[in-house]
Amino acid sequence: MNAAPADQIRLLDLQAIDSKLDQLAHRRRSLPEHAEIDKVNADHTALKDLVVAAQAQHGDTTRELTKAEQDVEQVRARSARNQQRLDSGAITSPKDLENLQHEIGSLAKRQGDLEDVVLEVMERLESAQTRVTELTARLEHSTVVLTEAEGRRDAAFAEIDGEAEKVRRDREAVAAVIPADLMKLYAKLRETQGGVGAARLYQRRCEGCRTEFSITELNSIKAEPADKVVRCENCGRILIRTADSGV
Ligand SMILES: [Zn+2]
Repeated sequence: MNAAPADQIRLLDLQAIDSKLDQLAHRRRSLPEHAEIDKVNADHTALKDLVVAAQAQHGDTTRELTKAEQDVEQVRARSARNQQRLDSGAITSPKDLENLQHEIGSLAKRQGDLEDVVLEVMERLESAQTRVTELTARLEHSTVVLTEAEGRRDAAFAEIDGEAEKVRRDREAVAAVIPADLMKLYAKLRETQGGVGAARLYQRRCEGCRTEFSITELNSIKAEPADKVVRCENCGRILIRTADSGV
């Protein structure tokens, strides 16, 4: 392949631009915010589940309390009815009176036990409420942390994308004047050679793979016409001869 020496040198400019674009893309992918957001997101999801579970627990305990209070109320009402009957004087049989007093006594004991249950459930309800409040606050905090990290990521994206846009405009101008066949070879090499398709020959080395050429190799490169597209024997990249290449 042949190409004017000036076009070959332009390929080095293009390479510098493409490397810059690669760096920007790499920076975009490896922003520390990505890992941070993943972590906060995982915490956020876990917290959401905990809030849902705590709310369910709170709901269950609320229903349990209603039931326990109803149990107390039933016993209290029955006890009151018995007391009324006793106070009314309608019951005269000593046996019936004794039974009634006995029942009133049992109900008082039963009411006391059920009131203890109410107190115990109220304590658990309070703990459940505290847990819901605490977890909800943590969830709100994690939302703030997440939003903040996403904001920093988006700001970094905007900066990188803005810079990349400028570099791409430069690229268009440079690429427009390079012959199509040279561009095609360069693009193919860039794909297979880690993003570097064209390298300068400098101080007897290929700057793509750092191989140092022997005098014989250097002499055969020197012997090539200036418009010949030379390739590095080691890495296959387009080897660009410039004024300070020493050939
Ligand atoms: Zn090389």
